[in-house]
Amino acid sequence: MTLDKSSTGRDVHRISRMASELGSRKRLPEVLADTLQEEILQLSVGDRLPTEPELAERFGVSRTVVRETARLLVQRGLVTVSPGRGMTVAEFDGRLIADQYGLLLRLSEGSFEQLLELRLVLEVEMAMFAAARRTDEHLTALREANRNLSSSIGTDTFLDADLSFHEILAQASGNPFFSLVIRPVNSFLRKVYRTSPGYPSEASHTVREHEEIADAIAAGDPSRARFACENHLRRIMRHSDLLAGDADKAARKRASG
Ligand SMILES: [Zn+2]
Repeated sequence: MTLDKSSTGRDVHRISRMASELGSRKRLPEVLADTLQEEILQLSVGDRLPTEPELAERFGVSRTVVRETARLLVQRGLVTVSPGRGMTVAEFDGRLIADQYGLLLRLSEGSFEQLLELRLVLEVEMAMFAAARRTDEHLTALREANRNLSSSIGTDTFLDADLSFHEILAQASGNPFFSLVIRPVNSFLRKVYRTSPGYPSEASHTVREHEEIADAIAAGDPSRARFACENHLRRIMRHSDLLAGDADKAARKRASG
């Protein structure tokens, strides 16, 4: 699929009208980036967008505006730009947004304990769905994450194995929204835990609890999975003071201005 490369009066009017309606709140490149974004979402990875002069003509804007628009689309992770090839639709995996959102969580005034409350709400139900919907591949991946976890006690890779278990759990839920929401939460956790002297609070408990969750999911028992996951997260919550490290101190500092 390709974008319509012809110059149409309709597009030219649409962009200038949208920009003037939005007044000074949104700059022209942003309006154009929003418009192109909608079209890019209909395209496939690797598809090429019209060239800079073609876009300038179609939307009745300068090439400088098109260049600025391209920069914004690159920032959003939607396209890549290579010299001579122009813009190409990038593989969009939401990593950029997850990082940004993870940062937003870190900068919020919420406490670490409150983040754990959010996890409790999300992940307990997630585990239940995973028990009902997981595939054999999910189960294999969960088991492998747990093997990595138990063999990495006391090393730097423990954290990766811990969080990757929770990411696979989200995938196993069969609902793609869980993965999208869990990723920024995990990105936040990763940053907090990496600098927290209290992490992991009780590594051997983490391993055992993860195994209990995986066993329940293997058995296809949703209520057991829910119970096992809640048990795991509530124990972590009891250690939130220790695990938070400097995260809560920083949040309090921001809140007090
Ligand atoms: Zn865990």
